[in-house]
Amino acid sequence: MSEKKRLLGMTLDELKIVAAEAGLPGFAAKQMADWLYKKRVSSIEEMTNIAIAKRKWLAESYEVGKVPPVDFQKSVDGTIKYLYPAGPGNFVESVYIPTSDRATLCVSSQVGCKMNCLFCMTGKQGFTKNLSANEILNQIQALPENDELTNLVFMGMGEPLDNTDELFKVLEILTAPYGYAWSPKRITVSTIGAKGLKRFLDESDCHLAVSLHSPYPAERLSLMPVEKAFPMHGVLDLIRQYDFTHQRRVSFEYIVFKNLNDSVQHAKALAGLLKDIPCRVNLIRFHAIPNVPLQTTDLSKMEAFRDILNDRGVTCTIRASRGEDIFAACGMLSTAKKEKSI
Ligand code: SF4
Repeated sequence: MSEKKRLLGMTLDELKIVAAEAGLPGFAAKQMADWLYKKRVSSIEEMTNIAIAKRKWLAESYEVGKVPPVDFQKSVDGTIKYLYPAGPGNFVESVYIPTSDRATLCVSSQVGCKMNCLFCMTGKQGFTKNLSANEILNQIQALPENDELTNLVFMGMGEPLDNTDELFKVLEILTAPYGYAWSPKRITVSTIGAKGLKRFLDESDCHLAVSLHSPYPAERLSLMPVEKAFPMHGVLDLIRQYDFTHQRRVSFEYIVFKNLNDSVQHAKALAGLLKDIPCRVNLIRFHAIPNVPLQTTDLSKMEAFRDILNDRGVTCTIRASRGEDIFAACGMLSTAKKEKSI
């Protein structure tokens, strides 16, 4: 028996095709979107304004496709890492981060990743597959704290702009009136600067975060092989062509490694690089991962680095570390689960 197709993750245009197949009127697509994205039902039977016979017909080939997490770890600080199935033997993580004024979910876009950044556990897994729109949206919709969510960051496992078709469907569903109807200001897509960046800048109003991690191309290349195919100077030139002074914001992520990229010289060079871009720099404490000789730097060094950027007119903050006791470095839980299931 072939697997049923999943409605969750379909755009309104895709639901119109399903409605036509079922012999339903055009407005039934909007009704289905309403059941899926506003009422967030778990089964086709619950779509009670669709005729029973049509629901039965739909249920023969389709299902909603909302799948609960299979595991979780909860930190003493309230951060929760969830593990979701993503096809046979595959798992992805999402991290729920509640604070006093917001609740953010860090969402994954791929199983594994091609980009092989030196400091990243997901990169060590290699690339398995792109997540479908269903598998991406399911992390949000099946989240036990779904009602609490205020913000989303596509910063989990994988490079979202290496999976643009599926990512864009999800962004449409999250922001369209027929879907979640969220403001794009509540959503940030985080990238290392992959090929989908121009399309994202042209077609989306969501915020952008770019991982830099060094102001020097050769050093960045040693940390992030993507620097060869998509050099940071090209990425920054592209960003300079767009307006980040009104609704949409751009930020730069900078993981600080001890005795590698934490010097005064680095801070000054980074400030020089970004001085003409209205942006924020987020300094991130490195979470050590097995078999990688990179180390966490001291807080005092990070503060000095931050102060140099702020003194030079580049807004810079140190991101609070969350969930350290549950290994919030993405890829840890799913790697362990995958190894167990092999
Ligand atoms: S940091 Fe992001 S882009 Fe780099 S390997 Fe990890 S998941 Fe991929």
